[in-house]
Amino acid sequence: MTERELKKSIKEISPIDVYKLLPRTNCGECGFPNCMAFATKLVNGEVAIEDCKPLLKEENKQAYSKLKELLAPAVKTVTIGAGERLVKVGGKYVMYRHEFTYHNPTPIAVDVTDEMDDKELEERIKKIEGFSYNYIGRTLKLDMVAVRSVSNDPDAFKLTVEKVAKMTDMPLILCSFNPSVMEAGLVQVKDRRPLIYAATKDNWKEMAELALMYNCPLAIFAPGDLKLLRSLSRTLLEYGVEDLLLDPGTFYDEGLSDTINNFTMIRRCACKKGDELLSFPLIGTPITVWTSGEISKEIIQWKEAILASMLISRYADLLIVHSIDGWVILPQVIWRFNIYTDPRKPVSVEPGLKVFGKPDENSPVLLTTNYALTYFTVESDIKSANLDCYLLVVDTGGISVESSVAGRYLTADTIADAVKEYKLEEKVKHRYLILPGLAARLSGEAEDTTGWRILVGPKDSSGIAKFLSEKWPPKEGEE
Ligand code: SF4
Repeated sequence: MTERELKKSIKEISPIDVYKLLPRTNCGECGFPNCMAFATKLVNGEVAIEDCKPLLKEENKQAYSKLKELLAPAVKTVTIGAGERLVKVGGKYVMYRHEFTYHNPTPIAVDVTDEMDDKELEERIKKIEGFSYNYIGRTLKLDMVAVRSVSNDPDAFKLTVEKVAKMTDMPLILCSFNPSVMEAGLVQVKDRRPLIYAATKDNWKEMAELALMYNCPLAIFAPGDLKLLRSLSRTLLEYGVEDLLLDPGTFYDEGLSDTINNFTMIRRCACKKGDELLSFPLIGTPITVWTSGEISKEIIQWKEAILASMLISRYADLLIVHSIDGWVILPQVIWRFNIYTDPRKPVSVEPGLKVFGKPDENSPVLLTTNYALTYFTVESDIKSANLDCYLLVVDTGGISVESSVAGRYLTADTIADAVKEYKLEEKVKHRYLILPGLAARLSGEAEDTTGWRILVGPKDSSGIAKFLSEKWPPKEGEE
């Protein structure tokens, strides 16, 4: 295997390396006070190079290209779709999430086929579009529709693609190994940049022509044959197709370990060895389990769920699935959310004074931290008990109550600052603040710094309703 000389990994690039290539005028157009601040954000992957508009000017063309090269991810970013709903796949810098944040969460595509009647098609698209789950303040959704040719009939495929395109503006994957079928579908959605799935050793030339003619990304399918996958990648690159995705095959049952090994080997070649022929996003197809011959639908779905979550972990950049039931999809979107959060930053919510129900000047004031998981648990317990109260959310950098007390992010001083900042005195006429039970040890000191009486609430927010029913309003001397 030929290996290009490995460029600096993202971890080795310092903000200074980047700063040197920026215009260094500190003009502030990017929204940051100076170029150094922007360089730091750029190295962390929190902004795009293009956010520095002066860098796009003709005179900075060379610096822009150098910066692009310097910050290019090990796995190419490929866009599928157009307009607001386009998805980006790949764009990975590292093999392991603890090394650097993973970017571009794995889009999940659900299939429809050209043998479904209008009613089935419509119902399925509605389900795909309508799937939505609120998880610690984020809305988790499905991303794409994969239109499969089962009939192998160009006219049937054309009609189905046309119908699907009218029903949804989600990005599309067109699936057929037959170039005539593929072209019939492509003409219906030529402005929507669908993914062409897929080129094989038998059809690569025709599929490459279509990819170039319609300016679409192209998937390569070489199940279980990494040499062939790599060779097709070389051939297609030489032919001029630059936006490639790789499908090394997804095998179930006794093929599970081969599947993970193949995905891992390819990602290792891209990230550790700089193999440009394998530096493309990977497609996982848990949908293949539906060809297993298994009779029980639930067992197939269960296997599909396992495959999907395995591949989200290692290293699929795009998934095609068939199951649409919540119990199969929900674990995937939650797992994906967790894998793709920044491991350096706890998931947090905005600090501040939150209002529940219709509190008045006599209503209780509870306190928690801005760790998202804690906040949404407390919020859910307050809402389900229909309580009228205030909740003071203290900024602890997204750290939970117990850890932030131990790490001194939640202290008597930060509580006093929050009481002052969010003007609690103007909201209620009493002077009682309810601390979570896990922060009980701050109560004495917090009384001194805030001047408020501290009540120690339950350790678990599920006990808030009971606590308030027994202890609120407090009776003088009882607290
Ligand atoms: S827009 Fe560019 S030149 Fe201006 S401050 Fe930001 S990084 Fe510097």
